[in-house]
Amino acid sequence: MPRKNNDAVYDVAVVGGGPGGYSAALYCVRAGLSTLVLEQLSPGGQMATTTQIDNYPGFDEGIDGMELAERMQRGAERFGAVTAYETVTALELDAMPRRIVTSRGVRQARAVILAPGASPRQLGLPEEDKLRGRGVAYCAACDGMFYRGKTVAVIGGGNSAAADALTLSKLCTRVYLVHRRDKLRAEHSYLQPLEQAENVTFVWNSTPAGFVTENGKLRAVTLTDTGSGQTRELACDGVFVAIGRKPDTEFLPEAIVRDDAGYILADETTRTSVPGVFAVGDARTKPLRQIVTAAADGAVAASCAQAYIASLS
Ligand code: NAP
Repeated sequence: MPRKNNDAVYDVAVVGGGPGGYSAALYCVRAGLSTLVLEQLSPGGQMATTTQIDNYPGFDEGIDGMELAERMQRGAERFGAVTAYETVTALELDAMPRRIVTSRGVRQARAVILAPGASPRQLGLPEEDKLRGRGVAYCAACDGMFYRGKTVAVIGGGNSAAADALTLSKLCTRVYLVHRRDKLRAEHSYLQPLEQAENVTFVWNSTPAGFVTENGKLRAVTLTDTGSGQTRELACDGVFVAIGRKPDTEFLPEAIVRDDAGYILADETTRTSVPGVFAVGDARTKPLRQIVTAAADGAVAASCAQAYIASLS
């Protein structure tokens, strides 16, 4: 698609339409700032891939992640936020207004709020890419239905692995939860339902070493016992990898300083190393990556962006 320049100059461009991005947009428009949200696919980010969210306050019976995402988008658009479905590929931050290069052209804004979120990490095993969508998956809420009535292994011991194992236990005949230690790091609230699910089996002290295929289809995952070093095959139709996230920050210029893992260095003010550029949600350094903390970041960033824009005049 040819690059087009769009003459409109927004007060704020928000990069990413997850909870941090739409919370920022809501607070920006309510403060009178013209606000453009750039989202590559659909609102919600990782939140939209979660079927049941029970830890975002105000929803006493929980809420589907996709629905919460759409509500957050509508909430911001009700006050005038504009969403454009474009992938941001680069930022040019030296001039004012800042130029945001996207898959459809160039957008302009005085301040930028970065809310690009994070993506699932891969195991890095041979054939992992080739098997993606053909036996290897990274999101139970998205792909679990393809394994209805089948046997799956979930890899990981954090909240994602625990939530995925629970989701899959409602669809699959058997779910193995494979963890490299003998204790989950997931929140305590996951433990009891997992232990009570008759079709969930914990496989402790085991790391995946490879995939076994037959006629191009996954047949098993090879596991190495972390104590003895011995390997064995665990027969399964699908492997769900839930071993953490990596921030989607590769498109950022060097001027936006990040830590070794790629997280944007920003403190509770959400200010980054570049004045007028703020970072919210899972892509920034922070002690707890949750929907509620991303949403809180958005409000803070909007307030700081408002002060920054006022300082320009
Ligand atoms: P996480 O908390 O970082 O956990 C990653 C898990 O994968 C850990 O158990 C880790 O083992 C294991 N692991 C890492 N690398 C591995 C490898 N190469 N091979 C095998 N296992 C490996 O990641 P997450 O569960 O994706 O959660 C990410 C963030 O999202 C967290 O802040 C989490 O709280 C949040 N989240 C929250 C919810 C919720 O509240 N309902 C749901 C999903 C995610 P070790 O334990 O040995 O390190």
